[in-house]
Amino acid sequence: MSSITENVRLARARIDAAARESGRDPREIRLLAATKTNPPEAIREAVAAGVDLCGENRVQEFLAKNAVNAYAGCGVHFIGHLQKNKVKYLVGAVELIHSVDSAALMEAIHRRAAALGVVQDVLLEVNVGGEASKSGVAPEELPALLEAAAAYPCVRVRGLMTIPPAESFPGEAAGYFRQMHELFVDIRRKKYDNVLLTDLSMGMSSDYEDAVRCGATIVRLGTALFGPRNYDIQEAPGDGTLR
Ligand SMILES: *Cc1c(COP(=O)(O)O)cnc(C)c1O
Repeated sequence: MSSITENVRLARARIDAAARESGRDPREIRLLAATKTNPPEAIREAVAAGVDLCGENRVQEFLAKNAVNAYAGCGVHFIGHLQKNKVKYLVGAVELIHSVDSAALMEAIHRRAAALGVVQDVLLEVNVGGEASKSGVAPEELPALLEAAAAYPCVRVRGLMTIPPAESFPGEAAGYFRQMHELFVDIRRKKYDNVLLTDLSMGMSSDYEDAVRCGATIVRLGTALFGPRNYDIQEAPGDGTLR
């Protein structure tokens, strides 16, 4: 068995165990392979091994890999920072955009979706750690953004996503995950138009079991499945040595 296949099985087993431990049904949690910098062969292997979803960070990379059917048989999500001028490449092409953090971006997605006659599912990215360097809305700005969604019927808000600060001590992320779950539950109780909260996207290779215990429905794993990333290759995609 190749290491990617083995890694997918191990991650899935850990997700399932963390779910049961916390009284959750393991089927509520989807394993998303964060595929950035990884070549189509690696992605196909992860899909064959049973990941539920693939997630790409960069529009160019998504388009290049999609053109060679790298994600065949698997839903694709966009998980990276998104600029308004790139929205046209994603709407209708990916199932879910995880990274909406402004009304302006929501409007751009709505316009494109309306032109295509589709409804685009999105998550709102929350900057739960309040880091200046990170994208995402501050938790206190979230209600206003949820209210803004009512004006964009071709966008449907399906939940929240977060990337907490890098841990400075073990278990630090869990505090942020609990905070996100509280926000999620709180918002779900209220009624917003075009908002149908089903998904909470949080947890990466170093902290996904904590995220599952705290209510994540999508965990996003890169290095735990594919090993360390080689960014040099991403910067020079034309040299024929993808990987
Ligand atoms: C790269 C990436 C991940 C996966 O990170 P790992 O630590 O390698 O698991 C998850 N989410 C987002 C948004 C990413 O960019």
